[in-house]
Amino acid sequence: MSDYIKREDALMAILALEDRDIPEDRYPDTEFAFNEGLVRAADKVNAIPAADVVPVVCGKWEHDGFNWFCNRCNYNALCDKDTGEEVLSPRCPNCGADMREESR
Ligand SMILES: [Zn+2]
Repeated sequence: MSDYIKREDALMAILALEDRDIPEDRYPDTEFAFNEGLVRAADKVNAIPAADVVPVVCGKWEHDGFNWFCNRCNYNALCDKDTGEEVLSPRCPNCGADMREESR
């Protein structure tokens, strides 16, 4: 399974290396080469095409004293057709929010 990260976060991680203090007397011309490498790395990150992903939206089942409902769209939990009891599904059947506590 692939991991998806924000391009902006990757670029910030690369640019954070720019402030490294390279002793000029021990490594002449190293800082320029190092920074040039950072620019090339940032260019490579910028050239990667965007993945077709949807951000995860988290929700939570809340109870109003009568019914369980999604705290994002106020949709009531569906009822089991056999028992009539409300089913707190891992995703909201209306808005698709991830209702699992452990996914946060
Ligand atoms: Zn919802």
